[in-house]
Amino acid sequence: DLSGRVEQRSKDEIGAIAKHFNSMSEGITEKLTSIRHNVARLIKSQHNPNVDLLTDTANTVTGLVKISQFKQAIEEDETSDEVYQRISEVLQSEFNLDKFSIYTVNPTKKTIFPAIVDAVPEENFKWCDKAVLENCTSCRAVRTGHNIDGRENNLICRSFGINAREEDKRYYCFPISHAGSVGSVVQIVLTQDQIPNFSSNRPLIESYIREATPVLQAKSLMASLKESTLNDAMTGLRNRRFLEEYSETLVAQCKRRGTSMTLIMLDLDYFKKVNDTYGHDVGDDILVELSNIMRANVRESDLVIRYGGEEFLIILPDTQADAGVKVAEKIRASVESHQFNAGGVLINKTISAGLADYPSDGQAFWQALKYADVALYAAKDAGRNQVVRFTPDLWLSEEKY
Ligand code: GH3
Ligand code: MG
Ligand code: MG
Repeated sequence: DLSGRVEQRSKDEIGAIAKHFNSMSEGITEKLTSIRHNVARLIKSQHNPNVDLLTDTANTVTGLVKISQFKQAIEEDETSDEVYQRISEVLQSEFNLDKFSIYTVNPTKKTIFPAIVDAVPEENFKWCDKAVLENCTSCRAVRTGHNIDGRENNLICRSFGINAREEDKRYYCFPISHAGSVGSVVQIVLTQDQIPNFSSNRPLIESYIREATPVLQAKSLMASLKESTLNDAMTGLRNRRFLEEYSETLVAQCKRRGTSMTLIMLDLDYFKKVNDTYGHDVGDDILVELSNIMRANVRESDLVIRYGGEEFLIILPDTQADAGVKVAEKIRASVESHQFNAGGVLINKTISAGLADYPSDGQAFWQALKYADVALYAAKDAGRNQVVRFTPDLWLSEEKY
């Protein structure tokens, strides 16, 4: 307690000590108040009247140092998921919180995904109504971009889970904006007895979130830039670079699951004629139409890649060659019966396809890919508009192509 003063009664040494003591107390109080005030402005926290000024200032400075360490750490993290993980660790270790969700928002699909629930990455969704997963605007924090305070009244957001509501849980949600809209939400779920502690820590938690915001923005921008370099702008399909980046992952998944995957190489027949007759723009339109046909004939988990100009690669994970042939045949038939719009004129086109199985045809991914290509050239050679499955004899006569 620095508020006490000693009365100076004499001019001797005792009196001098009293004088010194008083001016020391005043000096410390004045400087601490100023430090506390400045630090508080940085983390927007109020002086806690239950704690003495020195302890409170020391705590606040410690908090500030931890936030600065947190900031350094997340700046060097590679992905948003790692940043979420760190926020999760801070919520647990610094603030003793055990119930929370960190959501990421997909602005194009208008969906949200729980990146972390109760400190577990990709844990099952738990604290909100399931409807928010499909429609992120039913999350009040996403829709308004404001902090949602459900400490007093847990009905403030209608999407707070019915079970949690019945257990009288409370919450506080912090939206994090990325590029003008809410990109993630940190939702803290509270029991009644956790509320006082949370309430005094809230400014500090908010400081962590404030530090994480620009870092998450930069990471999501990087991720979308990277994403754009892996897609073909004209058709919206994946491109060859994507294949180079992800083939290892695909192979690893395939090995782990002990399954095989079908590779289909596919090329338009006599495509040059389209360009020559109708022009390059019409040629482009036909490639887009063909891309849509391919996409419509495969599962969400399959990959359609624009491999070259008018050459495509379709990868069907967890698929045996027999089932793969059926898919390729379905695409071939769909193309054959489709009328393409060639600048107002309707025309028919066909495709040829070659198919190989990884790992039963080629034990290395790139070898299987080569074999699919060999089978494609056999299909062309055999008259086009057909699907050929790779067989070893095709490889032996490969010199022909
Ligand atoms: P086939 O495959 O049946 O042997 O005959 P083709 O006429 O299709 O021959 P090839 O595959 O060798 O020719 C590919 C042509 O596709 C050449 C090129 O001008 C055209 N092409 C490649 N990429 C594009 C593109 O992005 N847009 C357009 N319009 N044409 C392209
Ligand atoms: Mg062609
Ligand atoms: Mg070609």
